Amino acid sequence: MNITEPAAVKSLLEHPCFSDEAHDRIGRIHLPVAPRCNIQCNYCERRICADIQHPGWAARLLSEAEAVGLVRSVIAERQACDFVVGVAGPGDALANDETFHTFARINELYPQLTTCLCTNGLLLDDRLEEIAVAGVKTITVTVNATDSRVGKDIYSRVHYQGTTYRDEEAAAILIEKQFIGIEMAVAAGFHVKVNTVLIPGVNDLYMLELACRLRYTGVTVMNIMPLIPAGKMKNYRSPSCNELQNARRQCTEVIPQFHRCQRCRADIIFLPPR
Ligand code: SF4
Ligand code: SF4
Repeated sequence: MNITEPAAVKSLLEHPCFSDEAHDRIGRIHLPVAPRCNIQCNYCERRICADIQHPGWAARLLSEAEAVGLVRSVIAERQACDFVVGVAGPGDALANDETFHTFARINELYPQLTTCLCTNGLLLDDRLEEIAVAGVKTITVTVNATDSRVGKDIYSRVHYQGTTYRDEEAAAILIEKQFIGIEMAVAAGFHVKVNTVLIPGVNDLYMLELACRLRYTGVTVMNIMPLIPAGKMKNYRSPSCNELQNARRQCTEVIPQFHRCQRCRADIIFLPPR
């Protein structure tokens, strides 16, 4: 497949989620334009909620016009495009055409902005050309396992091309599609970050194996995040600080680690003072 060249990213040192140093220096805005999801992660519990810091949660959905209006007003106020604009839910960015329409409009108006999307990766290879055409500059994929025998305890459902898959079959399809998508995105010139949810007793013994596969696939940086017990995993425990640090320390030998993740909401607006 001949993929349209992705728009050049200024520098990963100017991206708050690819560089620890840039994290407090560069702003980030998530536009909650993507309500639907095509898989079910066992730790996911999506909510419309205004006041709790939780990935995937938003006070309300924004229409494409509202999202573009928000970006316009922030640029007008700051007189600068000194922040990153992303779509990270509340569902999966790639399962919603609104993501593509919103990015295309923002890229048309403000091509100098760094745009970024966060996905479970199921549709990454299918929609890579559209991602490039919409002007998206960086991609984050959440990958929690390399093996369906581990993934079956993390994912309970995957909906792909009109069929719903469950349990280990669902995990196998998702994992296969994730790595095909990442490989294609890297080959097309995208910088790819991988988020991994560390789940004690489920995938914690496989972090190094995952890190090696990510490096081999060409991922730029890995972000290991602690489980927030919720959904079907509400009775699971979060990793301790030591467990999280150990996993990062082990994996940093293989692939650069991002340490500053705030597990942002789908509607976060963080703009550092100028
Ligand atoms: S991909 Fe994201 S929105 Fe979909 S189930 Fe998993 S955590 Fe929830
Ligand atoms: S959740 Fe983490 S990686 Fe995503 S925007 Fe927030 S800080 Fe960056």
